[in-house]
Amino acid sequence: MIRERAYPVDPWHIRETRLDLDLLAQSESVFALANGHIGIRGNLDEGEPHGLPGTYLNSFYELRPLPYAEAGYGFPESGQTMVNVTNAKLMRLLVDDEPFDVRYGELRSHERVLDLRAGTLERTVEWVSPSGQAIRVRSVRMVSFTQRAVVAFLYEVEPLDGPSRLILQSELVANEQLPPMSKDPRVAAVLDHPLQAEEMLEQRTGGLLVHRTKASDLRMAAAMEHLVETPGKHAVTTEGHPDWLRTTVACKLEPGQKLRVVKLAAYGWSSHRSLPAVRDQVGAALASARLDGWEGLVEAQRDYLDAFWDHSDVKVEGDPEVQQAVRFGLFHTLQAGARAEQRPIGSKGLSGPGYDGHTFWDAETFVLPALTYTQPSAAADVLRWRHSTLDLARERAQTLGLQGAAFPWRTIRGQECSAYWPAGTAGFHIGADIADAVRRYVQATGDYDFEREVGLELLIETARLWRSLGHHDRHGRFHIDGVTGPDEYTAVVDDNIYTNLLAQQNMLAAADAAKRHPDLARKLGVDDEETASWRDAAASVHIPFDKELGVHQQSEGFTRLQEWDFENTPPEAYPLLLNYPYFDLYRKQVVKQADLVMAMYIRGDAFTPEEKARNFAYYDARTVRDSSLSACVQAVMAAEVGHLELAHDYLGEAALMDLHDLHQNSRDGLHIASLAGTWISLVAGLGGMRDFNGQLSFAPRLPSRINNLEFSLLWRGLRLRVNVTAEDATYSLRNGGGSARLVLQHHGKDVEVTQVKPVTVPIPPAHPVGPAPVQPAGRAPVRRATS
Ligand code: BGC
Repeated sequence: MIRERAYPVDPWHIRETRLDLDLLAQSESVFALANGHIGIRGNLDEGEPHGLPGTYLNSFYELRPLPYAEAGYGFPESGQTMVNVTNAKLMRLLVDDEPFDVRYGELRSHERVLDLRAGTLERTVEWVSPSGQAIRVRSVRMVSFTQRAVVAFLYEVEPLDGPSRLILQSELVANEQLPPMSKDPRVAAVLDHPLQAEEMLEQRTGGLLVHRTKASDLRMAAAMEHLVETPGKHAVTTEGHPDWLRTTVACKLEPGQKLRVVKLAAYGWSSHRSLPAVRDQVGAALASARLDGWEGLVEAQRDYLDAFWDHSDVKVEGDPEVQQAVRFGLFHTLQAGARAEQRPIGSKGLSGPGYDGHTFWDAETFVLPALTYTQPSAAADVLRWRHSTLDLARERAQTLGLQGAAFPWRTIRGQECSAYWPAGTAGFHIGADIADAVRRYVQATGDYDFEREVGLELLIETARLWRSLGHHDRHGRFHIDGVTGPDEYTAVVDDNIYTNLLAQQNMLAAADAAKRHPDLARKLGVDDEETASWRDAAASVHIPFDKELGVHQQSEGFTRLQEWDFENTPPEAYPLLLNYPYFDLYRKQVVKQADLVMAMYIRGDAFTPEEKARNFAYYDARTVRDSSLSACVQAVMAAEVGHLELAHDYLGEAALMDLHDLHQNSRDGLHIASLAGTWISLVAGLGGMRDFNGQLSFAPRLPSRINNLEFSLLWRGLRLRVNVTAEDATYSLRNGGGSARLVLQHHGKDVEVTQVKPVTVPIPPAHPVGPAPVQPAGRAPVRRATS
């Protein structure tokens, strides 16, 4: 586990000042670079030692059979696993015949810096070889945001004490050996030699490898090219093999002289295109990278990120650790989605192989809220991807005997890949989560073209699913039975409130959208009777409530279940899923992650303030946060019910999930939902931002240690900035000209904001609240006020 403060606090950098080989795998995730299209883990340039080598292309996967001890009707037959593709990061160095390897010789200094504004990972090393030659290596790498197929590396070596003979071997390697699989269900299946060689081309300064997967039948090409600079003479050669290609640069240098190599690499892949087409595609990408050169790529990367930070940055004064972490989180959220371009965003982004590279509701419910308000085109692209998989979702619904579309709980390409149906297929709420993301995006952007082309059909097909999955009882109440809500420790239940309230919103949103686009809706087979049936079901959705306790039931009967014995659950027994059988977890009141609490955030309009306070206290005492998707939502609701210090604690947990490796599995990839969730904790939590029924509202309040919070949002093309202090909030518009005005709500009162003048309004005194809720024994978050 990464010990606290493994990375010193710094507002714009993640700095590792010494190399700890035990932490290699985690730091490879933390230092992963990606653009949503390509992802490379932060492996050392020379490849070894490594924790987990990794290079990923969005949606490049292999199929593998899903094993079942007992098969059942409708079980998915094959799974999809993200492939570790051809590695372009390798740059091996020999110093007077001795391989540069940090495990040998003397490592005088080793520093790596992830620069969140430059979008680069820089490494500086001073090393003395076992025979006493001292060198300095500086390498910088980037995955380009502006040229999505391009990865670039700068590698500089200089001898420090005496003349040196240097040999640099820069490679492309396919089918790297991966460490064996563990038993943890959250890691990935290990594929053995997933890539079959199709073509190899070597030229003096680079070349290309083309491979294909056996079962999924996807083709990929990786190409590289080198620009070499040395003061004296040097030799460059390239040799190849079907699975590797090596460009070798040889030179002799005196102290004060430098070898400088720029390696440009490009990736292309396709399920349809021919070998020549994919080969040409990477050739073109390399030509385009060459045109800009290293300096041009670096400059474009900086400009791209300057623009991103200008409209997305969140400033937090008073808690520098959270300040650093929220920027780290936003950076990785951007890296996961920026150029995904109609491909999914996996729960680990492209930072590691965890969960087989699958996308879950994490994308629509945690990542998309942040992207919708900061990088809306990336949010739209994810939904366009979902739309492109509608036929598969319709087929799945049919297999299950349902109407409309049943989206997969986890997938890469669109087919259901969960082999455990109680926490897979039964997680039907994914459909409503997609619908919620559509609603949010259209509301925030006013992009009605998107609604016509993509949103309407998604809303309609998901509404149809609810109508056929649920039923009216003899009193007319609408129930959705036998489903699993967000809490995966309570499965296959009736009337999960989160599912019911999101389904309700889904059906109403579909009926409203059909009304806005009557012709299109008719074409999709919607008539008045169908929309009336959605409205009917929505109006009579059953919401279970325990009158005796005065709290809602997360699902029917939940509050009647036996309590979990938290007092006698030792700290090492968490996460419970690795230490207790599901049958026991399912029949007791133990909550893996925010579920009813999540419903109170997303459908906050369906609860009174008193209900929220009582429910929050009840469920906080039973929620163990064994999922990284929990703390950020608990932060939001803790803030809303007035427990600001607790909100700050949960915010800290969400923010530091990977920088402190809180779940001890950051090695398999980052927890993108929690990183994006940090934005949610700050903006929706401390900022109190909501968007119910198209009304943008804020109810900001800060905990004692945070004295200033500033964030920016895009709302219907307007750039709104919100600055919060303990006493007041200032709202300003940063564009739109003299005629632009935005009416928002501040603590329930209308405030009109124009570009001409910022508006400052006082924060009303808080209502007194009782003592903060108590968490299960040993599960309280780390206190931020005192940390
Ligand atoms: C959580 C799910 C989540 C998945 C992927 C699970 O542990 O319970 O809610 O979607 O991880 O992040």
